[in-house]
Amino acid sequence: MDKPPSPKTTAGGHVPPDVDILLSRMLSEIASDADIEAYRDMVLANGEVVDVSEVTKSDTKAEQLRKAGNRLYHARKYKAALGKYNEAMCCAESEYDPLAEFKELHKTVLNTNTEIEGSLKACAALSYAVLIKNPAINSSLTTKSHHRFLLNSLLHYTRVACFLMWNSHVNLSTTSTGHVLSGLTSVGSLINHSCDPNVAAIYMGGRLKFILLRPIRAGEQILTAYGPTWYDRNHPPVTYSFVCACPFCVQPSMQHWLATGRELSLGAERNADMLLAILQDEAFNDVDKLHAIQQYIQRHIRFHPEDTLSRIMTTYRLYLLEMVKKDIERMGREAAVARVFE
Ligand SMILES: [Zn+2]
Repeated sequence: MDKPPSPKTTAGGHVPPDVDILLSRMLSEIASDADIEAYRDMVLANGEVVDVSEVTKSDTKAEQLRKAGNRLYHARKYKAALGKYNEAMCCAESEYDPLAEFKELHKTVLNTNTEIEGSLKACAALSYAVLIKNPAINSSLTTKSHHRFLLNSLLHYTRVACFLMWNSHVNLSTTSTGHVLSGLTSVGSLINHSCDPNVAAIYMGGRLKFILLRPIRAGEQILTAYGPTWYDRNHPPVTYSFVCACPFCVQPSMQHWLATGRELSLGAERNADMLLAILQDEAFNDVDKLHAIQQYIQRHIRFHPEDTLSRIMTTYRLYLLEMVKKDIERMGREAAVARVFE
């Protein structure tokens, strides 16, 4: 049997994605012996992989733990070695200094993109308007220059976030611990997660749009799903770095969750079938189709959470995505035409 190709490091010293995935699986508590053995084989096949993760840890305590890990590793006690490596990593992270990181961030010089600078300023201003309502933040800013500093910092943060999100050539989508890095926008990140969202976040063409999925009652929080929703049943489960306490997650099962809603009438079920048929029918245009879905959701939302309704909302979200895509393509075409006739 052919030997699998050795993993290689990229120019930036980053561990290639397949190694990263395996490493994150291994570092999680559910790592099985098979995972550990697979990792060990890979390490033996290419020492470079180990060297890459070593350079990020420098303090003495972490080094001691790493050495202890290495001894256990050579004694073939892989699981115990893994524990030590994990501890070493946490130890190195305890040196984390948010102020130093902030200073680094503040020194970053980015080429500003004049096309989106206006949007970035609007985002920073909106974040500022929200943050300033927090009494702790408001009372700590006593002079005009404090306020200007916060506003400038937010603008700078927005620029950096935007750069990381859209312009970076480095794969920032997943960290070595498997956490997803996205949604680093100052306004978007103010919106909390729920597996039962009331808005859909749609990223496309460098823009982030929040579109209403169902009516929001006065005082109800705006919520978006950072991953799959409760009705994305074929989606593999996602682990967040927080415990989700949304109304769906507090239920012991899907059946219990659905039982908190009401049952749709037979007529409403039939209408749902008709609606799904309309969506397949080419005689109707996109606007009519969207309008029909919105009307259905509006009329039956009081039955939520409900199985059929969740199917309609899934379809609605897909349609929205399609519409936004078309819209962006149209704007791109118009901009191209405008440039030609300038
Ligand atoms: Zn949840």
